Formats: sequence, C-alpha cells, structure tokens
Amino acid sequence: MRQWLMRIVVIGAGIVGLTSAWWLARDGHAVTVIDRAEAVAQGASFANGAQLSYSYVAPLAAPGVVQQVPGWLLRGDSPVHLRASVNPAYLRWLLAFLAACSANASDAATAKLLALSALSRASLTEMLAATPVDFAHRRNGKLVVQGSAAAMASAERQMRLQATLGSRQQALSRAACLEIEPSLAAIAPRIAGGILTPDEEVGDCRLLCEGLHRALLPLGVRFLLGAEMRRPVLRGGRLVALLTSAGEIEAERFVLAAGAQSGALARLAGIALPVQPLRGYSITAQLRAGSNRAPIRSITDAARKIVYAPVGGALRVAGFAELGGAQAEAKPQRIAALAAALEATFPGACDLDGLQPWAGLRPATPTSLPLIGPTRLANLWVNAGQGALGFTLAAGSARLLADLLAGRTPSVAAADYAPRG
Ligand SMILES: Cc1cc2nc3c(=O)[nH]c(=O)nc-3n(C[C@H](O)[C@H](O)[C@H](O)COP(=O)(O)OP(=O)(O)OC[C@H]3O[C@@H](n4cnc5c(N)ncnc54)[C@H](O)[C@@H]3O)c2cc1C
Repeated sequence: MRQWLMRIVVIGAGIVGLTSAWWLARDGHAVTVIDRAEAVAQGASFANGAQLSYSYVAPLAAPGVVQQVPGWLLRGDSPVHLRASVNPAYLRWLLAFLAACSANASDAATAKLLALSALSRASLTEMLAATPVDFAHRRNGKLVVQGSAAAMASAERQMRLQATLGSRQQALSRAACLEIEPSLAAIAPRIAGGILTPDEEVGDCRLLCEGLHRALLPLGVRFLLGAEMRRPVLRGGRLVALLTSAGEIEAERFVLAAGAQSGALARLAGIALPVQPLRGYSITAQLRAGSNRAPIRSITDAARKIVYAPVGGALRVAGFAELGGAQAEAKPQRIAALAAALEATFPGACDLDGLQPWAGLRPATPTSLPLIGPTRLANLWVNAGQGALGFTLAAGSARLLADLLAGRTPSVAAADYAPRG
C-alpha cells in the first residue's frame, strides 16, 4: 500500500499546473489536478510562441517603457496595447508596472528571471530523462534582430548585463545575421544587427502538456477535467476545500496554477495577487515542402515584437500584448497582421491556406517575476504569473514549489518569487 504524504489539489492543467503535479507526485504526494476545460492545455499553454527562451528573459517593465505608455493607451494597433479601465486591481497592477520600469528594478528582475530559467533548463532535462515526451523539442538557437542602431545598442547593453549572469550570447552585424539566416533576406534593409543565443530551444507546449497528462496518470495523479473552481471553502481561517462544478474537493494543500485567472481566483479567498491577463496571438502555418525560405533558428523581430519559431514541420508566429481584456478571442485584424508579417518576412515559406489562428492570455505580473510559494491564507499556495515565459519557466517554478512544500532548501532564492498578497 502506497504511503502518500499530503493530499494536494492543483488548480489548472496548463504547463505550470502539470509540471507542478509532476514534481509533487515525485515527492510522494497524492495529487489531484482540476481544470474547468475538458482537456489539458486549453489556456495559454495551447499554441504559444513555442520558445524555451532561457536567456531572453528581460522583463516587459524596462527603462524607456514609461514614455511609450501613452502611445500604448491610444493606439489600438500598436504591438503593445493598454485598455483604459478603472478596475482597482488593474490600476494597482499598472502603477506597480510603472514603478518596475527603472533600470535598477529591471536589471534586478532580469537576474532573478535568469536564475529561475537556469533552474528550469536543468529541471526540464531531469523531467524528460524520467518521463520522455515527444514534443518536437530541439535546440535550434535564437536570433533577435533589431531595427535601429539605438535598439541594437540597448540590446547589446542587455547582453553585457546577462553575460555577467552566465548567458552565452553574441552580437551580430546585419551581414552576419544574413549569413547565418539567409531566410531573412526580404527584411534585410530594416535589420540593424542582432543578438544570437545559440543554445535556446523550441518545442510544442501543448504536446508537452498532453504527454505529461498521459505520464502522470500511471503515477497515481488524479485528473478532474471539466471541474471549474467556483469558490474556496474556509474553516477557522484555513482553506480546507474547493467548491467546484463537480462538487467539493478536500485536501491539505491547494496550489493555484490557474494562469491568467489566478488573480481573480485568489481574490475570492481574500488574497491580492498581482496577476493580470495579457492577451497575445499566434498563427501556425505549415512549412512548404522543399522550401528553403523558412528560418532554422527562432527569430524575433524586436521592432515589431513578433516571434517566429520553426516547430514540428510548421512555423509558429506569435506577437502582440494587450492588457485589460479577459477574453482570449482571436481578433481577425490581429491574426491578419501576423499573417501579413509572416508573408513579408519569409515570403513563400509557408502554406497560408490552412493556418491556425489562436489567442491566449499570458498571466502577467508587473515585474514579470512569477509568484511561487505559500500565501498568508493557510493551505493556499501559488504557482502563477510566469507571463510571457511560462513555457520556459514552468519546470523550474514547479521544482521550486515542490522544494518549498517539502521543506527542502531550493537552489534559487525563494524570497525573490514569494507571493506577498
Ligand atoms: C501569444 C503568446 C505567446 C507566448 N509565447 C511563449 C514562448 O514562446 N515561450 C514561453 O516560455 N512562454 C510563452 N508564452 C507564455 C506561456 O504560454 C504562458 O506563460 C503559460 O502557458 C502559462 O501557463 P499556465 O499553466 O500558468 O496557464 P494556462 O496554460 O493558461 O493554464 C491555466 C489553466 O487554469 C484553468 N483555469 C482557469 N480558471 C479556472 C477555474 N476557475 N477552475 C478550474 N480551472 C481553471 C484554465 O482552464 C487553464 O487550463 C506565450 C503566451 C502567449 C499568449
């Protein structure tokens, strides 16, 4: 008879919830994963940018961003858009975001994100060694091309900072970018240079989630799919159960890993978590057979804030960041803009007829740092807020969570990611 340590309910079957379940099950806990969707990976983990972007972790809040905010508020078609709203949680988030835009705050967040991303790379390797999953995973490298000399200078500054923190990156001239990626010829005139990170990886996040789901079942993890968390059940100031659409579920610990919904769900328990939905879009287009016009590496067009990742016979194109909308609707004008960017950047590389449009909500915190650990409500733990890097940071976030729950000393400074709500 197996001895379980604790009954733990994980709320959310995206990449963060599933990796959490993997590490918690490995520790010997009796884990139940619930999700309101009927299948795993139906939220932001479904068709994201596909990049395991371990070195490119700079937070959205950065010097120079404050000056751009008025444009983001006024222009609906800019790569980043802020909706005007008087919602108090949203306004508090915006103020905290603006406060995080100083060079010091941004550099400090970069260092903390790099520490977690290094742990994530090691943790994913360890997970896959124990639980092999085929998710079109490969190390193809990443090239971020810049559109102006000023942008290139700022990217080189970030590269120098990250070199002191262990990143292996290289600044390339326009000619060097084109030499290693001739597929960029169509946009050559607007490339000022690029930053190459040779050991970045790609993979299909949904396939990894589905593989983890299959692998977790024989490990004794229970899945309650189609079960929506309605409200917390509190007794004596402790969280003792969740009321869900499938009934009440009791446990000793609850891990909130509900992605962009985590802020709203935490509020039901009286906990303030600064997590807001940041909508983004992707298209997936099959590569044309025999075409040499597609990139080999993942490419980021920094000026347009669009990423291109060759993954599993297709090109995944992702971009846009819209704050202040809670619906993951794939607006036709955004999808058309991504398709136009794809055709202008890599003309003829893909078959645009059958392209798959998608929109998802990044779980964004003001600093871009995720929130991992216990809250002040006894028994409620959080693993949320990985933002634009949830695929990249999931394995390390999950391991940190499991270490904290087990009372082990984690290999990163847990206080850097502690929820303060
Ligand atoms: C356009 C785009 C591109 C991106 N590109 C990349 C990239 O290239 N690399 C990278 O690292 N990251 C990327 N990201 C970010 C990444 O996709 C997310 O950070 C990550 O998927 C978040 O995972 P999650 O498990 O926290 O959330 P989700 O995958 O959203 O999972 C949360 C789950 O919680 C469930 N849930 C919500 N409310 C309830 C409730 N009340 N009851 C029960 N269940 C509930 C939802 O159904 C959902 O399944 C991108 C995101 C977007 C939108």
